[in-house]
Amino acid sequence: MGLFLFVEARLTSEIAAVIVLTKKEIVEQPNSRFLRVKCLDCENEQIIFDHASTEVKCLKCGKVLARPAGGKVRLEPIARQIEELL
Ligand SMILES: [Zn+2]
Repeated sequence: MGLFLFVEARLTSEIAAVIVLTKKEIVEQPNSRFLRVKCLDCENEQIIFDHASTEVKCLKCGKVLARPAGGKVRLEPIARQIEELL
């Protein structure tokens, strides 16, 4: 039980670290948006940051959904944009 609680606390701190990083990127990129995209391979929907500086992979099947291209990401053919979020 003690070990389980430790692992859960670690996961929570990792999630918090990701949120902090994303907020920092938004400040640096005032024209940034979040996009809801659907992976056409496995039907998974997820929200991606359109100014991501690294490849964005599908959280379910691991395929690359978008790649950085001159500041903004370019969606791969396997990813379809559902909507744009402010
Ligand atoms: Zn997928």
